[in-house]
Amino acid sequence: MSDPLDRVIIECCLNDGRVNPAQNIEMPRTRTVPTTRPPLTGRISEVAPLQEGEFTQVYRGTLRIPGFKPIDVVIKTDAYAAVARPKAFKREIDAYERQLRSFQGESIPKCYGLYQLEDDDEVTSFLILKFSGLPLDFNVEYPEDLKAEIINKLTTLHHAGFRHGDLEDYNIVVDDGRVMFIDLEDVEPHDCQLKYAIIPDDLVPTSAEFGCKEIYHIVYMLDVWQKQFINFYGSDIYLSEIKPGGAEHLIWRVRLRLQTESEIAQAYAEAEKLIQDVEEWRKWYNTITDEERKFTFISESASASEPEDSGSGSSATDSSSDSEPGNTTLM
Ligand SMILES: [Zn+2]
Repeated sequence: MSDPLDRVIIECCLNDGRVNPAQNIEMPRTRTVPTTRPPLTGRISEVAPLQEGEFTQVYRGTLRIPGFKPIDVVIKTDAYAAVARPKAFKREIDAYERQLRSFQGESIPKCYGLYQLEDDDEVTSFLILKFSGLPLDFNVEYPEDLKAEIINKLTTLHHAGFRHGDLEDYNIVVDDGRVMFIDLEDVEPHDCQLKYAIIPDDLVPTSAEFGCKEIYHIVYMLDVWQKQFINFYGSDIYLSEIKPGGAEHLIWRVRLRLQTESEIAQAYAEAEKLIQDVEEWRKWYNTITDEERKFTFISESASASEPEDSGSGSSATDSSSDSEPGNTTLM
């Protein structure tokens, strides 16, 4: 059930903060499930800051456990936060080691445990995870297959009965096209009411039609759907305003941004092109049937997410043994 790591030593002072500034930090593991395996001590070296936040700080380092290959890890801690958050870390380790345990290495990082230091009634927490990439940025236009991977993994999680609870771009990490969800302290049971197929370039449905707020938010932010308006020369033009013979109207809508004859001529050409593109989109849009918009979940990937037994002793050795992400064909 659990991996053999029982204690870690972080070989550094993280910065000149309050935790053992001159020494290594040695901590026992906070067990959420009992283990009968012989205890092992891991050492984390080559520690470097990755991200500084108000509530948590994240470091990257190399974890060495006797008998295992070195592992690229991140250390999430509240050691330098204004307020320690031991309960949030307890909730998060519960998500990793209990609720979403079968998703480790699949849609959440492999977890090497929670370690807590008690000092004068104050508890400082260190959560150790396999490094799984850098955060997404919703301002970037990502390739369709990456968007599909994010949505499929999220949908799989929902249909397994959980929601993330606080999902934004900064807690979706990507490494070499592989997506993982992090910051799991708000994970909770969820009865997903998704009832709408996610079709790229389909017109944005309403949240009520769609049925699930968390998935809706992510699909919307990833710009998968055709929005009700299109940006033309800095103005948001409603789709209903873009129609054959309507180039004059579009030019009128952006006239203050056009100065010279040649700019106006250029804008005309672009207006005609936009009208043509929207007409083509309308033709395609009208081919989607109500039946196609009904969500049907292919449930096999939910059970395919069971990772190798981490108690086998080999789980901590090799990142290349990770299985391929599950495929749910939504897009
Ligand atoms: Zn849902």
